[in-house]
Amino acid sequence: MLTNYYKQKNISFIMIMFILNVLFLGIAILSFYLAHTSSLVLYKLVLNIILIAASFASFFVLMNGICVLMLLNDHPLNSFGRKLVQYSMGAMYPRMMYITQLFGLDKDNIQKIFSEINNRLILSQRIQVKSEEILILLPHCLQKSDCKHKITNEISNCKRCGACDIDSLIALKEKYGVNIFVATGGTIARKIIKEQKPKAIIAVACERDLSSGILDVKGIPVIGLLNDRPEGPCINTRVKIDKAEEMIRYFIGEGN
Ligand code: SF4
Repeated sequence: MLTNYYKQKNISFIMIMFILNVLFLGIAILSFYLAHTSSLVLYKLVLNIILIAASFASFFVLMNGICVLMLLNDHPLNSFGRKLVQYSMGAMYPRMMYITQLFGLDKDNIQKIFSEINNRLILSQRIQVKSEEILILLPHCLQKSDCKHKITNEISNCKRCGACDIDSLIALKEKYGVNIFVATGGTIARKIIKEQKPKAIIAVACERDLSSGILDVKGIPVIGLLNDRPEGPCINTRVKIDKAEEMIRYFIGEGN
């Protein structure tokens, strides 16, 4: 089941939300204290503006944290909750990464949970498209490193030897009629999306590329699939074919 695939709790994420909330709350309390101990009118005005902004930001982070935790625990969100999480992903992600670095937390974990939140948002909307409107974007590192066949422009150049997952992915293309492209970077990925005009995207990548790619694509639902890296990053990576198929089935309405 799709839900089992996403069943990962991440304490780092909760910690970051907590830190953000404490930060804004601290600013609000300090502004309140300074405003009420000062007699300068302009100074008071500025502090009151900071107080309102920090209180609002703290409330926003708190609400967002509640919505995200609901989402991660399989509780359905109403459209307001979904919009709030959707908006906050773009607004808070860079700040969350900054805090992650500052406190020495695991960056991969945060990026992983970010794509998990995104996937859950998409899956909770019950989007349905035709199979030919689905684009599967693959990283080049899925191809066996010693394979001589150039599949970046045309995946059908693969000779189907089965030494890497490209073979099984082509089998999915044949079974469902989805479009599959291999992108060597963000610029190529953007170009493919522009040319193909998909209505839904299944992107396979590492944590970093998935989270930045998800933020990059506007107006098209993107489901992210993390690749496995048995030989380390960027070489001979793998993808769970059954998960890719589940995503296709979800988008064409067979997996709901
Ligand atoms: S399945 Fe074989 S031929 Fe196709 S890309 Fe992988 S290694 Fe190359």
